[in-house]
Amino acid sequence: MVTLIIDCYTDEPAGLGVPPYLGTYPRYLAGHLREQGEDSIYLTIDDLRLWRYYGGKIKDPKPHESTNIRVYNLTHQDVPALLAIADRIVVNLGVHTPGKYLSAIPGTLHEINEILKDVDAEKILTGPAFFGTALEGGKIAEREDLSQFKEVKLMKFSFDEIKRLSIAGASVLGQIPDMRIIEIETARGCSRAIGCAFCTEPIKSKFEYREAKDVISEVKAFYDLGARYFRLGKQACFYSYPHCQEVLKGIRDACPDIEVLHIDNVDPVMVNTSRGERITQDIVKYCTEGNIAAFGVESFDQAVIDANHLNTTPERTYNAIKIINKYGADRGPNGLPKFLPGINILFGLKDESRRTHELNMQWLQKILDDNLMLRRINIRQVNVFPGTKLAEMGGIKFLKRNKSYYFRWRRDIREKIDMPNFKRVVPIGHILKDIYTETYDGKLTFGRHIGSYPIIVGIPGRLLLKKLVDVKVTAHMLRSITAEAISQPRDIKLHEYTPLEVSLASS
Ligand code: SF4
Repeated sequence: MVTLIIDCYTDEPAGLGVPPYLGTYPRYLAGHLREQGEDSIYLTIDDLRLWRYYGGKIKDPKPHESTNIRVYNLTHQDVPALLAIADRIVVNLGVHTPGKYLSAIPGTLHEINEILKDVDAEKILTGPAFFGTALEGGKIAEREDLSQFKEVKLMKFSFDEIKRLSIAGASVLGQIPDMRIIEIETARGCSRAIGCAFCTEPIKSKFEYREAKDVISEVKAFYDLGARYFRLGKQACFYSYPHCQEVLKGIRDACPDIEVLHIDNVDPVMVNTSRGERITQDIVKYCTEGNIAAFGVESFDQAVIDANHLNTTPERTYNAIKIINKYGADRGPNGLPKFLPGINILFGLKDESRRTHELNMQWLQKILDDNLMLRRINIRQVNVFPGTKLAEMGGIKFLKRNKSYYFRWRRDIREKIDMPNFKRVVPIGHILKDIYTETYDGKLTFGRHIGSYPIIVGIPGRLLLKKLVDVKVTAHMLRSITAEAISQPRDIKLHEYTPLEVSLASS
């Protein structure tokens, strides 16, 4: 039995699997199949696009062209041969928190339906798409005829199973020729009894967490394969994990040459305690610089907080920002502050009004005036997924009500808060080391640090891609910087690439 795992990439409130991240779903699945004694082969949606729409040929962009990110994340395996021998195809798909991706475009249900419609194999759809998927903010979930799939199922494994599967499935990395940040799961579900109205996490799982030793063993399995970039990002709140220090110290002890160790997702309420202060110090001590505590604030308006059962208050968020700045504002070797808060703002929640924007601006201005730093402000329009409280309460109608203001609200935040904050975090003339060059846009090369929510850097000239370079900041755009290269591009530390040898001859 040969199974192809087709990774269309996943993005959820708790967990990222869009390249350069390698999410947990294809890894656990590969481990599960291996335990059943079955072969599995990992392919990406980019591999399928290249075969279906570009005749299998990779074209280098001409000097005035941009890198084609629809076919950037290739495994370079023989797609026709693999489709011919496949008995089963498992498609991993689902975006719940759509973003803009520098070097990847997640697959949609419509796209995968089209690509696979003439492929003769048993097909299964899995991943967050089980609960719905939407590639743009402010939309309801994509609706598609899924009749070509024999099953649409979650393929969820217990943490007891994941203890083994995560290690058995780590070999997926060997089929990917490029750098990947390994997204590591520490917990699932939400520790709050009733979750936020828009969020799918409490629907997906009840709250549970992994043993520290299992998390460390998984990281070590990847490390032994040559992986050096990790994020403990698959959980609703890292601070809610009971073994923060044990896991962070354990990883650093077991994997001394790790290059990047970041976390993701923090409930500000959990930072506002003496335990929260200790965890903050441990994160600064054991993780690498450029780290972010992404706070799902969503709104600074108490009316919206109450109506949507959000997790924090403006006062608690402000205090958590202060605590993280107190310990994390110093800079590390790559030029970035060690650990800073990030804020998520969500438009389209129940009881949102023009007053909501005024309150958001007042609190953000206070953060700026008090000389605190934010690593980034993420502004999204809500997606309404079936089964959420927001869907029950009226769904998309709240978004429609204020939609005409969003452009102005977003611009206000970007220009009045984000820009001065950005200049504080990465001032003109500041040197940033180890920028990973990823794509071209005409005569510009775009790169960013490897890690959580990196700042996009536009560098004049077409530098060699997939290398590291040091830069000096020359200007600030609204969400990116421009910088000049001050070093020659150098190689990055990569894991071993060992694709499975399959050709039509062997079928
Ligand atoms: S705190 Fe809210 S957004 Fe975060 S996981 Fe829980 S329900 Fe979801």
